Amino acid sequence: MNTFDFTTIRRDFPALQQQVYGRPLIYLDSAATAQKPQCVTDTVNDMHRRLNANIHRAVHYLATQCTERYEQARETVRRFIHARATQEVVFTSGTTAAINLLAFSFGERWVGVDDEIIVTEAEHHSNIVPWQLLCERKGARLKVVPVDDAGRLQTNVLATLISEKTRLLCITHISNVLGVVNPVREIVRLAHTHGVPTLVDGAQGVVHQPVDVQEMDCDFYVFSGHKLYAPTGIGVLYGKEKQLEQLPPWQGGGDMIASVSFDKTTFAELPLKFEAGTANYIGACGLASAIDYLASIPLAAAHRYEQELAAYAMRQLSTIEGLQIYGEAAPKTGVVSFTIAGVHPLDAAAILDKSGIAVRTGHLCAEPLMRRFGVQGMLRVSPAFYNTPVEIDTLVVALKTAKKMLKA
Ligand code: PMP
Repeated sequence: MNTFDFTTIRRDFPALQQQVYGRPLIYLDSAATAQKPQCVTDTVNDMHRRLNANIHRAVHYLATQCTERYEQARETVRRFIHARATQEVVFTSGTTAAINLLAFSFGERWVGVDDEIIVTEAEHHSNIVPWQLLCERKGARLKVVPVDDAGRLQTNVLATLISEKTRLLCITHISNVLGVVNPVREIVRLAHTHGVPTLVDGAQGVVHQPVDVQEMDCDFYVFSGHKLYAPTGIGVLYGKEKQLEQLPPWQGGGDMIASVSFDKTTFAELPLKFEAGTANYIGACGLASAIDYLASIPLAAAHRYEQELAAYAMRQLSTIEGLQIYGEAAPKTGVVSFTIAGVHPLDAAAILDKSGIAVRTGHLCAEPLMRRFGVQGMLRVSPAFYNTPVEIDTLVVALKTAKKMLKA
């Protein structure tokens, strides 16, 4: 394993210092939400205590300070994902909100009867259900790209699914179940050769890979702050300016207007057109603080280390008889999901919990993928750069004990 200094990193995360049930916490559920470094909680606390006033409205000191910091946060996000302009960075409450925004706004503008939206079998519910709802509203159809047994997207099938009726292709960058990194650049290129725009769900991808939306050339990229070491309730919709320009607003309210009268309302310029109501400006500053934190650590080494940790977890877990891992295709990072023959995932997770080990269980918000692999649920460990190989070893020992207890 590379020489990533996780010992120093761990000191930045107060939550990792605690014990649960008298055992040191082993937090292996970062794909659900990541723990926060001290600098992020300090930013949020400081703003609540000292520097709080509504943005884009008043001229007083606190309001202008908050507005400036909010717009600086937008610039920080822009740089982080290499967007061309801050107009292309819309703050939302998270990935789900960003996708719903698009499903309404893009759907309103471009989707009609008999049109088609393509998603993949590996999507989180939040990149399926908003599109299903849109299809119901508009009389459109959802088409699905399958994954193979190793968790790879079957891109050869994708080519056959695209038709002149296809309005949008929605793919996950990294599945929250399989951990397989999808070849989004090539997929976007394929879609574009057919004139189809693309939405990439980056909720997991942005955490484990450098993201350059211009290089990826996707039309839309969405992610949540809370998985990226930032507070909950903040997320991002990136969209190419020429795409966002053409879309109608989704929600109406304060901040998204240029002028309002009972005869006619005109809308604010991008990105505020899509930010109705009081924005989560403190959350946005928390997100900027998390991105600054990531810039202060050796991030490329952290990403490599996460990939190695996932590979190490796969090797160690494979020593458990009857354990099956889903999504063995490389490159893989961030999550390892599995079942153990004869062991219910929930029972195993409950036993792990009593040893201080936090993992996720259930359908992982991806029921179609569960059905694809013929299981009702899985166990999922999702290591981040603050986890250690020793924690993986402890997990494996605890799982072996749990298996014995449950099979006795
Ligand atoms: N997509 C993926 C791939 C995810 O992992 C998640 C969160 N588990 C989401 C979308 C939804 O994110 P949020 O709940 O933060 O909106």
